[in-house]
Amino acid sequence: MPIASQAADRTADRRVAAPRKPRPKRGEGQWALGYREPLNKNEQLKKDDDALNVRARIEQIYAKRGFDSIDPTDLRGRFRWWGLYTQRKPGIDGGRTATLEPEELDDEYFMLRVRIDGGQLTVAQLRAIADVSSTYARDSADITDRQNIQLHWVRIEDVPAIWERLESVGLQTQEACGDCPRVIIASPVAGIAADEIIDPTPAVEEIARRYIGSPEFSNLPRKYKTALTGHPDHDVAPEINDVAFVGVVHPEHGPGFDVWVGGGLSTNPMLTERLGVWVPRDEVPEMWWAVTSVFRDYGYRRLRHRARLKFLMSDWGPAKFRQVVEDEYLKRKLVDGPAPAIPAVPGDHVGVHRQKDGKFFLGLAPVAGRVSGTLLGKFADVVEAHGSDRVRTTPHQKLLVLDVEEAQVESAVAAFADLGLHARPSAWRRNTMACTGIEYCKLAIVETKKRAHDLIDELERRIPELDVPVTVNLNGCPNSCARIQVADIGLKGQIVLDRDGNQVEGYQVHLGGGLGLDAGFGRKLRGLKVTSAELPDYIERVVRHYLDQREPQERFAQ
Ligand code: SF4
Repeated sequence: MPIASQAADRTADRRVAAPRKPRPKRGEGQWALGYREPLNKNEQLKKDDDALNVRARIEQIYAKRGFDSIDPTDLRGRFRWWGLYTQRKPGIDGGRTATLEPEELDDEYFMLRVRIDGGQLTVAQLRAIADVSSTYARDSADITDRQNIQLHWVRIEDVPAIWERLESVGLQTQEACGDCPRVIIASPVAGIAADEIIDPTPAVEEIARRYIGSPEFSNLPRKYKTALTGHPDHDVAPEINDVAFVGVVHPEHGPGFDVWVGGGLSTNPMLTERLGVWVPRDEVPEMWWAVTSVFRDYGYRRLRHRARLKFLMSDWGPAKFRQVVEDEYLKRKLVDGPAPAIPAVPGDHVGVHRQKDGKFFLGLAPVAGRVSGTLLGKFADVVEAHGSDRVRTTPHQKLLVLDVEEAQVESAVAAFADLGLHARPSAWRRNTMACTGIEYCKLAIVETKKRAHDLIDELERRIPELDVPVTVNLNGCPNSCARIQVADIGLKGQIVLDRDGNQVEGYQVHLGGGLGLDAGFGRKLRGLKVTSAELPDYIERVVRHYLDQREPQERFAQ
């Protein structure tokens, strides 16, 4: 059976399930069932004041009076709605993370997340981020796996000036974090890929225009992640978003989107389920509104760890979810739709590729998303010198440069390589991701970015010619900001014992997770923990074993 057909069958098997029997439950804090009184402190702070209002206090009070003037409910709560988190005080080791109070971990500096919907940047926007990084953020900058750019070392006094600089070029930090619609991720090759089914960009722009910053959705039960792609490589990890629109061709109606709902990682990871509907592009914003409204009204607000949309989907199943969307929100029936074919390996677009207009785009790999303001400035110079004004961030912590003429491709590849941004990276550099980790994150237990850097160097030396993609994702704690459960080798940071019984940084190993055709969660091997020092030996052993034993065409996750 061809891969596309196998994939479609597999999708259908996995995602279209029989209606589920509702289980009797105690009140979960669902607004639609009359539970309007806050049942925990997070719900209380959202009810007390719309979190978006904190911007006025930052501009009028906190930025003028300094860190000590900040109300704690704003500092550890509402600031997130404007992309601001306090970063970890330097020097606190990971073994103490769980034992300290939040205020003991808080530094006076902030992480600031710049949301880049669809990952689409102009050179002017890139320069603005580079300037802000150099001027206000000690030259820090990380490309996240949700197409954001994250800065560190930001002082509250500088935040208004930063907003002014970013907003002057059309960028924002609004709802970059918090219980609200986070950045809308979209295919980084939207509108340019020769094999694209449908360009999601107009829908991305319309969702952002109508709903980001709207009080209609500024108080959701928990964070809410959206992804859209019209590319057959499913390049936005649609399986693990709260809502995803995936390009598909309807036999009668043509190109549009299949709708997947209820994915998410962290503890209790779950994959999205298909609603079985086909939505044309101009109806995507309305459909997004309906799904998001269901989450706002029926989402669980009693327990924070059960508040993501995936728990509601798990209890309802896709048939009931679809019915509520149709009957209570859209007030019309949706069109049944086919399942899209699933790619064997989700696309990351690294390399040199021809666009549909005959020009080329270059997919470049920094190390685990780590860049800097200085680097972004130099990058902007090279982009401009090669006649481009379009850059994209990717959900794989990579950068794309669009619109390069064929005659300029090799000089661009060489110039970017001089900056450490490789269009033809090793398989290790290409397929390793890392979260923020202990350098800045208050929840972290171990180091991640530097560890990823050293690990890539070591593995490039030990197995230089790896001919298959083996994804290695490092997390600094049990959360899953770097998607460990869906990596071939997922590494969850924790304190472990070395051979001499000392407590040291290390990782719990999850093996064989994946997206696309291998969508599923890696097996957590009981007792399999490696120290940071043992990591290169362990990965080399596992990968050599796979290379020695594999059948033709066998993927690592199989
Ligand atoms: Fe922080 Fe944990 Fe997320 Fe890493 S996975 S960024 S350590 S919360």
